Amino acid sequence: MNSHLVVIGAPGSGKGTQAGKLVSERLYNHISTGDLLRAEIKKQTDLGLKVSKIIESGQLVSDDIVMELLLQNCDLKNKAYIFDGFPRNVEQASMLSKQLLKNSPYVAVYFKIDQDLLISRIVNRRSCPNCGEIYNLISKLPSAPDRCDKCGHLGLTHRKDDHKDIVENRLEIFTKNIQPMLDYYQAIGKLSIIDASESEEKTFTSLLKII
Ligand code: ADP
Repeated sequence: MNSHLVVIGAPGSGKGTQAGKLVSERLYNHISTGDLLRAEIKKQTDLGLKVSKIIESGQLVSDDIVMELLLQNCDLKNKAYIFDGFPRNVEQASMLSKQLLKNSPYVAVYFKIDQDLLISRIVNRRSCPNCGEIYNLISKLPSAPDRCDKCGHLGLTHRKDDHKDIVENRLEIFTKNIQPMLDYYQAIGKLSIIDASESEEKTFTSLLKII
């Protein structure tokens, strides 16, 4: 079995897109805490109702809530995972390793990217509400307007937290938390860094060299 992959990087750095490629081309399972939380909101569970305003405003949900959701949705014994969106701070990095990964082999990959590129990438991001495929109005349009190439669903969505003012909020939180997380993974010898400013294909090639 592959070792697990912990991807860290700013919103818009392409973690979800690259994870999708790894799932289709390698035997990985993608687990995104953002997707898990949005699914709870869609199902209107107690948890979903509790977190929806927090997410719409671009703030982080509490570490314990997200960790619990992750524990409920992972089958570490039988599957190799890409963790996307968790950890988002050094406390979560430590929780992930102590409560979930424990002695399982894993590598952490940092998607390094210029901040300038991010806002444009995020505000132009659209996704399919049916299958989760990600598009971009500038760099990756669907073949037919507003229709998902992968599953045919009509009506791509723009996440509420992908609007400019909220994105700036999210980037600020990211900038505050990233260095301690990198230091954490560096200190335990698990950190790799890739250049995520490149095209999807080049970034994928860099990623394949690491796993
Ligand atoms: P992005 O990586 O583009 O910021 P995500 O889909 O990963 O988007 O996350 C969307 C939102 O979900 C975050 O802004 C935050 O409110 C919440 N969230 C996701 N993962 C976590 C986490 N590990 N800890 C706290 N909040 C989280």
